[in-house]
Amino acid sequence: MSATLILAPGRERSVMRRHPWIFAGSVDRLDGRARPGDTVLVQAANGRALGRAAFSPASQIRARMWTFGDESIDDAFFRRTVARAVEQRRDLPELAGEFGPRGGVRLLHGESDGLPGVIADRYADVIVLQITSAGGEKWRAAIADALVRATGIERVYERSDSDVRALEGLEPRSGWLIGDGEAPFPVIAEPGVTGDVNIEIDVASGHKTGFYLDQRENRRLCGGLAAGRRVLNCFCYTGGFSLHALAGGAESVLSIDSSGPALATAQRNVGHNPQIDAARVEWLEADVFQALRTFRAEGRKFDLIVLDPPKFAPSAAHAKSAARAYKDINLLGFRLLAPGGLLMTYSCSGGVDVDFFQKIVADAAADAGVSARVLKRLSAGADHPVGLAFPEGEYLKGLLLRIE
Ligand code: SAH
Repeated sequence: MSATLILAPGRERSVMRRHPWIFAGSVDRLDGRARPGDTVLVQAANGRALGRAAFSPASQIRARMWTFGDESIDDAFFRRTVARAVEQRRDLPELAGEFGPRGGVRLLHGESDGLPGVIADRYADVIVLQITSAGGEKWRAAIADALVRATGIERVYERSDSDVRALEGLEPRSGWLIGDGEAPFPVIAEPGVTGDVNIEIDVASGHKTGFYLDQRENRRLCGGLAAGRRVLNCFCYTGGFSLHALAGGAESVLSIDSSGPALATAQRNVGHNPQIDAARVEWLEADVFQALRTFRAEGRKFDLIVLDPPKFAPSAAHAKSAARAYKDINLLGFRLLAPGGLLMTYSCSGGVDVDFFQKIVADAAADAGVSARVLKRLSAGADHPVGLAFPEGEYLKGLLLRIE
């Protein structure tokens, strides 16, 4: 018998709108016993059944909904849910190429795919699974098995080492879950404007699951804009934007990151792409905030600048300090642009929404004394869907701007 989680009066509203999180403050009581990750029935104060959720006693998010209906939560549930997420991606023409032998695609995007705290990325012949919820933890074997069935890919590497696991009372864990291999360094073929760009993924120790698949389309756009331009790629990680810019015919590409291992991979990536001219690329291990100030003092100018910083505001509580950091780099970016220059600027902070981000960038342009217009609003690709009931899923936002 499952335990029943009974909500406080009036607290059923967000669940009825299909938001998957139940905060500790919304819970009246638990009838029965449940361990971390166990499935509980969820009930409104008036006794109305709202669905089934994974219980997480250690977390402020006390339960995460698996279903808003009355289906049972078992291996078959995960087979169905995983298969549906994979099929939805296969159906999209823009992702068709990502199902080829060297594709790179996000297969499971957590809450927005009905699987709270469960991320799965496919890199060529390896799937990387990242679990950050007590419920996902309980069902990890079933989820991994469902991924193999849905894709035919037989190796699953686990990267459940994100800091947020501590909030759910979970220890970090990484390593092979299904199959094995020596060096898990698959090379994916990311579609670029002049053909594929080959990118090596460090599945075992790269950031997140090894790579930032969410910028796929934006890197491609960068490739299409780069011809003849002097490009500055800030926070370049393993050089995704840089490689696309080079393949797209950039005059020069200067890329900055503070991570030595990321830059080492970036340099190997140049070798994986014989079509690009290695003489046009320069890698700089530095702090972007400092490097941009130095360039400014030297009077350097660029024609296309990419700013793709790490998450400055993991939650709304950090929004203010994050806003200062975003404004600072955008202000410096505007000042380093030559007339007619382009800025691709991003925020992947959940705590900073689209409108706030645009306001910060507008303030930076005003302080830099430039007129700029938005040519395009940017976001993650279709393999990172946003559940309509889960606006928190829309974490990546960006602007393509042109200054006068
Ligand atoms: N644009 C990349 C992803 C960027 S992730 C891509 O397309 O793959 C953010 C990167 O910022 C990380 O590689 C991290 O090492 C780097 N970083 C974080 N703080 C930094 C700082 N102050 N200066 C330079 N790089 C920094």
